[in-house]
Amino acid sequence: MGRLLFSLAFLVGLFWLVEHLCGNKRGRPWRRPQMLTDAALYAFDTLITKPINLVLISIAAVLFLVPTGVISLEALKAGQYQGFGPISRLPGWAQFALAFLLGDFLLYWIHRAFHGGRLWRFHAVHHSSERLDWLASVRGHPVNDIFANALLFFPFLLLGFGPGAAAGAGPALGVFALLGHADVDWDWGPLRHVMTSPVYHRWHHSKDPAAVDKNFASFLPLWDLLFGTHYLPRDRKPGDFGIHEPVQHTFWGLMKHPFSPAPSPPATQPPLPRDTKHHMSAR
Ligand SMILES: [Zn+2]
Ligand SMILES: [Zn+2]
Repeated sequence: MGRLLFSLAFLVGLFWLVEHLCGNKRGRPWRRPQMLTDAALYAFDTLITKPINLVLISIAAVLFLVPTGVISLEALKAGQYQGFGPISRLPGWAQFALAFLLGDFLLYWIHRAFHGGRLWRFHAVHHSSERLDWLASVRGHPVNDIFANALLFFPFLLLGFGPGAAAGAGPALGVFALLGHADVDWDWGPLRHVMTSPVYHRWHHSKDPAAVDKNFASFLPLWDLLFGTHYLPRDRKPGDFGIHEPVQHTFWGLMKHPFSPAPSPPATQPPLPRDTKHHMSAR
């Protein structure tokens, strides 16, 4: 609990400076609607979702590494695991760089998968914020977070990365996830196509039809450029955030959202871009 409060206080202070002194919240009150909802989701993620992830990762590591003879259970418990195979023999910095790039690539496709079919209802929770700022980055459904983390972790386990490389790459990518939602108009100028920025990811949250299902990348816009999902106009700023389906902006409303009936398109109008049933075809 102490760690939770410390990290929350640190982030509140840091992003108050970023958004209120340098960003679009200049002169605005520090409170905004649904702030407590997002804070509750942050607490749930830290106290419940992340420990579940850790347990699943530990079980997967034991079930894969011990029967295959990579390491004994005793040595694993004693924290002696350092990876296996050619990747584990790379220097620490090279393993970290490789893990960061591989993680970024995997996250692109995991994120893109969550924009389609049944998975969208879980990811819609993250997209439901209508006031996008750094705190909105923690708005997410635990099923989304647990599945995404598992899909991200298993390749690292199978490829033999040392635990330090994988454990370092996750938080490093997480920094860009937090910053990407901040209420600032930063696009990194000449580097706008080299690394993702707040403007880049905020377009991903826009209901503007041109921006729907665009900008999936966490760090490298290269993935969006390669796979045809890049959107970064120079003459406009992102806005009109949220989703086209009804959603309750409370903690329990968001938890239950994926299990609520899927919205039906109006009979007399074309389907909206983020309508669940037509989501894939809107791409
Ligand atoms: Zn998304
Ligand atoms: Zn986001």
